[in-house]
Amino acid sequence: MDGFCRIEGPPMKLPPVDYEAPTTVPEAVELLAEHEDEASVLAGGQSLIPLLALRFAHPAVLIDINGIAELSGVSAANGTVTIGAMTREYVAEESRTVADAVPLLAAALPLIGHEAIRSRGTIGGSLAHADPAAELPAVARALDAEFVVRGRPGERVIPAAEWFEGFLTTSRRPDELLVEVRFPAAGRGTGSSFQEVARRHGDFAIVGLATSLTLSEGAISDARLAFAGMSDVPVRAADAEDLLVGERPSAELFGEAARRATEDIDPPADLHGSADYRRKVAAALVRRGLQTAADNADERQ
Ligand SMILES: Cc1cc2nc3c(=O)[nH]c(=O)nc-3n(C[C@H](O)[C@H](O)[C@H](O)COP(=O)(O)OP(=O)(O)OC[C@H]3O[C@@H](n4cnc5c(N)ncnc54)[C@H](O)[C@@H]3O)c2cc1C
Repeated sequence: MDGFCRIEGPPMKLPPVDYEAPTTVPEAVELLAEHEDEASVLAGGQSLIPLLALRFAHPAVLIDINGIAELSGVSAANGTVTIGAMTREYVAEESRTVADAVPLLAAALPLIGHEAIRSRGTIGGSLAHADPAAELPAVARALDAEFVVRGRPGERVIPAAEWFEGFLTTSRRPDELLVEVRFPAAGRGTGSSFQEVARRHGDFAIVGLATSLTLSEGAISDARLAFAGMSDVPVRAADAEDLLVGERPSAELFGEAARRATEDIDPPADLHGSADYRRKVAAALVRRGLQTAADNADERQ
């Protein structure tokens, strides 16, 4: 023995897979139409490559969209911020447009993994992957973002309420490419907050909460709460939202909203925490998220 561990067999990180690198959206759409569910789109690779390495995904062909320049960028017009699917998470994080117009998204982005992950990971990749513990799906659900997908027959616009169908599952068809995501710009008097509890900084959230609150003349005119990590999809706390609208912010109101938001929810239990622990964390996040959002809203009036 020379002290080194020897691994027999060929050193294979990834399974054998065909590789295509289109440079335009129409080319990518044609390839998807040709291969359908035999193909996987490769964006930042931060979720897909580990799945391939662990043999949890078995595509016959990878369609690498990193060379499609038109899929990257942030723009704002008519009260909507549009983010191209291939926009890296760090680019959105550093965008002045995102910070000014979609502060909830700006608050969530730095909580995704670490800088190295965000320098490769993309907005479209995170939302197409649809991990229920991820930050961006909860933000998209809270803000009623819209998902623009393109296939051979043309474009479809899918509201966030219909995008997340189940664990790592969206309503995108296998022959469709996610091309952009549209977020409504926050109006006057809107404050927001992204709260989460994770084992360590950079880990996926055990529970996360996206909160947006709009105040007009001191009363709440719009309230949005969406949880991450509490179900197999990001979930809105509709009962708590209904309670809040028309009321003035107070600790008592936020306490009652926390109770309503968590009383009928049935979170998963795993090695990170029991269902009961998740429910207690969720209630604390609702109180904290609402107070922070209300303070921000005051500043933006
Ligand atoms: C160590 C580590 C820690 C992480 N921590 C977090 C975290 O705390 N929070 C968090 O949210 N994420 C976390 N991530 C995941 C990270 O945010 C990923 O970047 C993201 O989930 C996937 O984005 P991607 O661009 O890398 O997509 P990829 O991995 O390339 O693709 C992911 C999936 O989406 C599909 N896809 C990608 N783009 C498109 C498109 N345009 N159209 C159709 N389908 C598409 C792919 O086919 C694949 O199924 C972590 C990752 C790692 C490795």
